[in-house]
Amino acid sequence: AKEPMRVLVTGAAGQIGYALVPMIARGIMLGADQPVILHMLDIPPAAEALNGVKMELVDAAFPLLKGVVATTDVVEACTGVNVAVMVGGFPRKEGMERKDVMSKNVSIYKSQASALEAHAAPNCKVLVVANPANTNALILKEFAPSIPEKNISCLTRLDHNRALGQISERLDVQVSDVKNVIIWGNHSSSQYPDVNHATVKTSSGEKPVRELVKDDEWLNAGFIATVQQRGAAIIKARKLSSALSAASSACDHIRDWVLGTPEGTFVSMGVYSDGSYGVPAGLIYSFPVTCCGGEWTIVQGLPIDEFSRKKMDATAQELSEEKALAYSCLE
Ligand code: NDP
Repeated sequence: AKEPMRVLVTGAAGQIGYALVPMIARGIMLGADQPVILHMLDIPPAAEALNGVKMELVDAAFPLLKGVVATTDVVEACTGVNVAVMVGGFPRKEGMERKDVMSKNVSIYKSQASALEAHAAPNCKVLVVANPANTNALILKEFAPSIPEKNISCLTRLDHNRALGQISERLDVQVSDVKNVIIWGNHSSSQYPDVNHATVKTSSGEKPVRELVKDDEWLNAGFIATVQQRGAAIIKARKLSSALSAASSACDHIRDWVLGTPEGTFVSMGVYSDGSYGVPAGLIYSFPVTCCGGEWTIVQGLPIDEFSRKKMDATAQELSEEKALAYSCLE
């Protein structure tokens, strides 16, 4: 039998946390043969609710779940973890300045970086979900210099999956037959959902999405806007932000990272830019990646047209501005 892996979820008493922890305990994140020990962190006002989540995990009698740590102590939460999913963050509240929200999150991610650096298992993989996800991940990287930058990422897989979902609905095909959409850039409304390399499996082989949709106007405008604004549409409908889809895509992100992507398939991950595709190095930017042996690699050599270039640069620009704002909060 495999040794259990320790998985940290911060903000675990929140909405996404509540949807995510049972998925992890059922093996959806790390595989049906991988035992897990859940580490759940939240802040003191949420401690009682967090304990309630722990009670439910016990009550669910998950066969793969070998232990649960529910704590408000960041060191206890981070100790020995192999995977860290950072969902906790300071929410945007009405009337708050961007800088104030950034400043709160910078201080949260700075302190959690130090705890992870000092106490996580070697080679711990980190996924930041809480917004501003790319910039929170960047702060975490900066303040955990001994964690390899390859091990720090942010979630754009939900956006990626939303793009797959929109294509599948439009063409009335199975979502599992659509692949290789790309989310470039920031997990914000400046992201660029790109279908130029996406394909659909058909009875006569793989066909480009553009060839099947035959409506460039929709692909270049309506589709992009729908994916960019899907989060807001969910909030409008549910009066709450997306949670089950965020949790499910966090599982997809970690599962593909740890267990690998299928041959010929790429997925989107927010990772530390090495300058690929002319994206400034030193930003956490969403790229198309393949994963093998627990490591991601940016897919190289995709042709980029002028339309894409502009959108990729605009979202990079927003990330550079966020980075500058985050650094100004450190002063
Ligand atoms: P959620 O569980 O709904 O969301 C958590 C975070 O995920 C938010 O930052 C949210 O950003 C972000 N997020 C990223 N992508 C998505 C997406 N596609 N859809 C929805 N959310 C997304 O928030 P809750 O308020 O229910 O839970 C947050 C938890 O964090 C609470 O339990 C709270 O106690 C804890 N917390 C921890 C802090 C700390 O560690 N110091 C500080 C404050 C809270 P967005 O806000 O943009 O929707």
